[in-house]
Amino acid sequence: MSDPKTELSYILNHLGEDRETYFNAVVPPLVQTSNFAFQTVDAFAEAIADESTSIIYSRGNNPTVMQLNTKLAALEGTDTAITLASGSAAIATAVISQVKKGDHVVCIQHPYTWTFRLLDQLLGRFGVSYTLVDGRDLAQVEEAINDQTKLIFLESPNSMMMELQDLEAIAVLAKKHGIVTAIDNSYATALVQKPIAMGIDLVIYSATKYLAGHSDLVAGVICGPKHLMKDIFTGDFLTLGACISPFNAWLLLRSLRTLPLRIERSSRSVVEVIAFLEQHPAVEQVLFPFSEQSPQLELARKQMRMPMGLFSILLKTKEPHQIEAFCEKLQYFLMAVSWGGHESLVFPALAVRKAHPEAEIPVNLLRFYVGLEEPAVLIADLEAAFHILAD
Ligand SMILES: *Cc1c(COP(=O)(O)O)cnc(C)c1O
Repeated sequence: MSDPKTELSYILNHLGEDRETYFNAVVPPLVQTSNFAFQTVDAFAEAIADESTSIIYSRGNNPTVMQLNTKLAALEGTDTAITLASGSAAIATAVISQVKKGDHVVCIQHPYTWTFRLLDQLLGRFGVSYTLVDGRDLAQVEEAINDQTKLIFLESPNSMMMELQDLEAIAVLAKKHGIVTAIDNSYATALVQKPIAMGIDLVIYSATKYLAGHSDLVAGVICGPKHLMKDIFTGDFLTLGACISPFNAWLLLRSLRTLPLRIERSSRSVVEVIAFLEQHPAVEQVLFPFSEQSPQLELARKQMRMPMGLFSILLKTKEPHQIEAFCEKLQYFLMAVSWGGHESLVFPALAVRKAHPEAEIPVNLLRFYVGLEEPAVLIADLEAAFHILAD
């Protein structure tokens, strides 16, 4: 029998919750404080000796944040989680913690925008170089490794083009070369893809997306084994200071209660929406890991437990006026960045191309997110927008 302490229901409803210490309240209190007082100099000194476990000051630890971290680490099947002010803060803190001047990072092509900025602009200023590779091709990852490579950064699937990487194969390759691996797992969450179990070292989230799930907060997470996480905590995390607020941590605890329900709903609905889009004559291509037409379907089935709500399509038309009319006709798919909340979304690459004409993203690409609405409502919304293209 499996250990009940690792069961999802136990983690989400009980783990880390000491109800008898707070009036048996079902919902944990929000410990909205920056500072913690000590009775004796010795107790104070002991706390200062290891800030990764003690509670001194809320830039480091805070009881509400620690309750959240306990659950997040357990969901991931690892020792430790740190929550931060944003997904970008989590990515920056984790990457910076692994490199110094002269080092090299291998990163998958088409990473999240601000991951690319971190490598290209910020770390470039401090003498860290990088190579982007097509992560679908293991040979490219291996070829990009050199003696200075300290980190392989993955995002599977990546959040615009939906390209997967074979996590087990890359973990084996990295271990052979003594290189740390990190993955942005925001797309799948730990409920659907478990990178630690596949040999990846650090798992990073934009908790703004599925983990928070209500489009009402921005947060990030780094998860991993103690031997890496303790240094990240006492080193770069405390120094960079991008901690989460206790209130946002409290909201995230609320969000985790319904995470399985929300992603199962999003997952079931997206399959219906994809089936509609795949047969539609105005659609050139669907970019979706679980599409029957995806060349990576087998890998998706191997390393992801179910489909998730984010995907892209290429429209047949590249005519900006048509694309604009299509997007502006949609009523239920709100036009916006981000994803993972209750509301369905559309993000036209055209908006990026208009703002940055040099951007290489295909002008006819639309990224969709399927939220919690009824799939029939979403399909009807798409149908009405497609009528505009036919006019
Ligand atoms: C949104 C996002 C991020 C950045 O997270 P923030 O919480 O917005 O800072 C990183 N990676 C992916 C895949 C994302 O979608």
